[in-house]
Amino acid sequence: MIDATVRERRLRWPIAAHLETTVRGQRVHAVERRAKYILIRLDTGTLILHLGMSGSLRLVKAGVPPRTHDHWDLRLDSGWILRFHDPRRFGSLHWTEADPGLHPLLARLAPEPLGTAFDGEYLFRATRKRSVAIKQFIMNSQVVVGVGNIYASEALFRARVSPRRAAGRLSRKEAAALARAIKDVLGEAIKIGGTTLRDYVGADGTPGYFRQKLFVYERKGAACRVCRSLVKQFVQGQRSTYWCPTCQR
Ligand SMILES: [Zn+2]
Repeated sequence: MIDATVRERRLRWPIAAHLETTVRGQRVHAVERRAKYILIRLDTGTLILHLGMSGSLRLVKAGVPPRTHDHWDLRLDSGWILRFHDPRRFGSLHWTEADPGLHPLLARLAPEPLGTAFDGEYLFRATRKRSVAIKQFIMNSQVVVGVGNIYASEALFRARVSPRRAAGRLSRKEAAALARAIKDVLGEAIKIGGTTLRDYVGADGTPGYFRQKLFVYERKGAACRVCRSLVKQFVQGQRSTYWCPTCQR
């Protein structure tokens, strides 16, 4: 059973005044994720959390005093506290008793890249008549959620598609290869803990090792691992794109 303590209600959106009384004594049934939202399923509804830009969750032992910017706690029977820390307060905490997929924050989100709704046929149809470059297209969260810069570059390399290509010019076969590559790249990265570039560490404090598997990302001027041509870089939509002009057309 859980018990909530809110010390600061003014996050990106105010935390509902009734939240503590509503969730008190409820059990946690599941913890899920949709795009960047964390869903904690309780007896009569769901907590919807977002970490914002600077938010983090930590497990601390009961009795550990809160620090500045520790805005709320969920105290668990086990003696642990799930504690939310957010200096910039762009995070959020909502409660819903309806299907969380219908909540205004979630209802219009595009498919998950690892879900069944996202496949080659979906990508092929979505790209028709779109002249935007394919890399920017797959990074658009209204098309598919959670394909960031690293994984977009890597998936395009694996699918042998130039990041500059107009989205609408992909063939059905290329769309299928790209959808497959996006799933493969994300699946492999998750398996080995993501890509540690700066200060990211996983919940267990270890960095991610996907960086060692990158074909093009941040390899400007290095030899392509497939054809030995030099990897090139350019800026696309204010983001660095890396690619092999020989392998990708
Ligand atoms: Zn190459």
